[in-house]
Amino acid sequence: MKETQQPESWESAVGFDPHRVRQDFPILKETFRRGRQGERSVPLVYLDNAATTQKPRPVIQAVVDYYEHANANVHRAIHTLGDRATELYEASRRKLARFLGAASEREIVFTRGTTEAINLVAAAWGRTFLNPGDEILLTEMEHHSNLIPWQLLAREKQLTLRFIPFQADGTLALEHLDRYFTPRTRLVAVTHMSNVFGTINPIKAIVAAAHRFDVPVLVDGAQSAPHMPVNVQELDCDFFALSGHKMCGPTGIGVLYAREKWLEAMEPYHGGGEMIRSVWLDRATWNDIPYKFEAGTPNIAGAVGLGAAVEYLSAIGMENIARYERFLTRYALERLREIPGVRIFGEAPERGGVLSFYVGQIHPHDVAQFLDAEGIAIRAGHHCAQPIMRKLGVMATARASFYFYNTPEEVDRLIQSINKMKEFFGNGF
Ligand code: PMP
Repeated sequence: MKETQQPESWESAVGFDPHRVRQDFPILKETFRRGRQGERSVPLVYLDNAATTQKPRPVIQAVVDYYEHANANVHRAIHTLGDRATELYEASRRKLARFLGAASEREIVFTRGTTEAINLVAAAWGRTFLNPGDEILLTEMEHHSNLIPWQLLAREKQLTLRFIPFQADGTLALEHLDRYFTPRTRLVAVTHMSNVFGTINPIKAIVAAAHRFDVPVLVDGAQSAPHMPVNVQELDCDFFALSGHKMCGPTGIGVLYAREKWLEAMEPYHGGGEMIRSVWLDRATWNDIPYKFEAGTPNIAGAVGLGAAVEYLSAIGMENIARYERFLTRYALERLREIPGVRIFGEAPERGGVLSFYVGQIHPHDVAQFLDAEGIAIRAGHHCAQPIMRKLGVMATARASFYFYNTPEEVDRLIQSINKMKEFFGNGF
């Protein structure tokens, strides 16, 4: 990397040493055999963190320990293992409440991930509070997870979906925010950080506007919670969704934060065990929140792993992580812009470490394949955001996305490989 970019000491510049942190992640030591006879060994450069992140030892160990020493069902068994499992599961809920700055752990519902958390709100809150003709305000930069549940609900309940547009630089057109609200607006659902542009949206301003109209706000935090400090009380949002696997936790576990008043007022989502208090053949009453929304045996090991993940992240410090990723992203953007023919999608001043780009005329899938041959994992595709691709007039983009364990040397490898690709494709570039 360029000498001038390297801070004298990582510790002093960002509060932790990313090179040391990497030692916690066994998978980052992977190497791949390349070449016809497998004569070349290339180390993994993992730059697909917006899709999912790698897991540090303390998270892996927490899951192993749970299965080796505490496995039982929660909230049911009257035996020691049942107590252990319940205590670990509920301890994770408290950790997540603390991590998100929730007023109470009663506001933390474990889900399979962001997608399920949003579907829960669409089904349960929507079922309870929406009527034909009501409007939901979304944005044009939503992941399908924060679009399709509302489309389904709109069809079922004859609702109208309205959209805040995004502009050429990948930011939302928020200058006249109040204009998007009508007397029928019932909910705003917006992503905190775009998984295509990296744009960090001004959630506080959006919430303030929505609340002036007495409209609650759901925040899709899949890309923000892993990368920056989040305090749901400061954001003042009504709902906040996150996925464990995007923040060093296991797959199949996530969280819906919801204000207590909404959880109390909402109808249940799934029916089954755990979510009930008393059941007759023709009716039932509901358990206390948050259990009312956790039907069936939950992903206990996943919750335990996620609890370990947020402890791990908090020990590094979310401020430190955000600061370091800002540095890394700025460096990567500078270097990418130096390559003639590279087009970057998204130029927001407030942004996270997600870089969508096009290399000359080369199809993003070819870009990803070429880079894979170099050991570099990036994503290519529509990133579950086809309406964004349509508006940009492309089928797909290549996307490199960072986490705190990535290094400037890895950015350099990405840049070197793109330059090599340029030579390989020659005029086609
Ligand atoms: N929203 C955003 C902004 C995302 O980036 C993603 C994952 N790519 C999701 C929602 C969905 O998350 P999950 O698949 O973990 O439910």
